[in-house]
Amino acid sequence: MTIHQADDDRLILDSVDRFLERDVAPYAHKLEHDDEWPADIVEKMRELGLFGATIGTDYGGLGLSCTTYATIVERVSRVWMSVTGIFNSHLIMAAAVERFGTPEQKTKWLPRFASGELRGGIALTEPDAGTDLQAIRTRAHRQGDSWIVNGTKTWISNGIKGHVLAVLVKTDPEAEPRHKGISLFLIEKGPGFSVSRKLEKLGYKGIDSAELQFQDCAVPAENLIGGVPGKGFAMIMAGLELGRINVAARGVGIAQAALDEAVKYSQIRKTFGKPICEHQAIQLTLGEMATRAEAARLLVRNAAQAYDRGERCDMEAGMAKYFATEAGLTNSMDAMRVHGGYGYSKEFPVERLYRDAPLLTIGEGTNELQRIIIAKQLIARNPV
Ligand SMILES: Cc1cc2nc3c(=O)[nH]c(=O)nc-3n(C[C@H](O)[C@H](O)[C@H](O)COP(=O)(O)OP(=O)(O)OC[C@H]3O[C@@H](n4cnc5c(N)ncnc54)[C@H](O)[C@@H]3O)c2cc1C
Repeated sequence: MTIHQADDDRLILDSVDRFLERDVAPYAHKLEHDDEWPADIVEKMRELGLFGATIGTDYGGLGLSCTTYATIVERVSRVWMSVTGIFNSHLIMAAAVERFGTPEQKTKWLPRFASGELRGGIALTEPDAGTDLQAIRTRAHRQGDSWIVNGTKTWISNGIKGHVLAVLVKTDPEAEPRHKGISLFLIEKGPGFSVSRKLEKLGYKGIDSAELQFQDCAVPAENLIGGVPGKGFAMIMAGLELGRINVAARGVGIAQAALDEAVKYSQIRKTFGKPICEHQAIQLTLGEMATRAEAARLLVRNAAQAYDRGERCDMEAGMAKYFATEAGLTNSMDAMRVHGGYGYSKEFPVERLYRDAPLLTIGEGTNELQRIIIAKQLIARNPV
């Protein structure tokens, strides 16, 4: 990184901090409890350029490195995790176009993604296929200059408020191996593409998670990312390293926020004549929480730096994702214990952290899957 780049990154991180302090922190609690989509926050994010954070500067994006972007995700999650979901899967969609799209697709879509004029996400999961994505049933067949798409997607972030989604579809259901029959399309809202329901959730409120229906939805052939069918599964797999580092960064944000709340509260709450931070049992908990948050941060940085060097980093991203999201989950529970009964109250932020954290162990590949990926890479990198 040049000195110039480092200065630019610092300026961006400072603006993000100001945005979080002024435009997010004062409103997060109410918006979250009301499960309200944060329209004003989204507008501010557009002004900041966050919808183009990792899109190249040639297309009007900020062109940030994965390391800087992960720092932004951590800081935003520390204040309100849901906000990261509004630009995160949008940027994964954009990355698929930037890496694999035709020159015409890049010119057509990327500037509008970068400005936030068009926002979206990725639609992979189906009612009967999540971890096993090659089992998807959404199909498309060619008809003239269009592909006709039929099927159902579920749990899609930004499915209601988004304008366009990168949708994983089978274009050759008989293909063997199965991944050779899978393609990725950009599908805009329009005839044949409807939202069948908004899904109610434990946490991660404010951002819309939806079930989507495609019924004889005609998609222009020019919207097939890369222009050649059968490459969609590889495109999604290529985006997962970045996606996992970002989910891991959310875990760090939650782990740190839980620690901050516990450190604060333990100095205010008194029992047996002294602040609870002077009881050894609380000190042991705080010590573990702080170490967990810092270890998670270092794993995320390690994976992000490997990604920025262009190295294969599925093992590093898997470790970061697994450890940092479990750290978020454990720290949120520990913070609740430190708060005693008040931790269970909706008046304090720890109950929100506790409701938000479990999602991180599921999204972008469950933590069971991460451990399997780590083990497979261990064996592959250390043959006997
Ligand atoms: C709030 C929220 C937002 C989401 N946003 C999106 C989105 O924007 N886009 C999108 O496409 N999806 C999204 N998802 C879906 C998410 O990616 C899936 O839920 C996730 O991939 C797991 O799939 P599944 O729910 O079908 O679980 P399953 O695949 O059915 O897994 C069930 C259990 O079996 C385990 N398991 C499965 N296979 C194996 C194996 N081979 N070995 C060991 N254990 C295994 C899993 O680890 C898990 O414990 C979202 C989900 C949620 C809850």
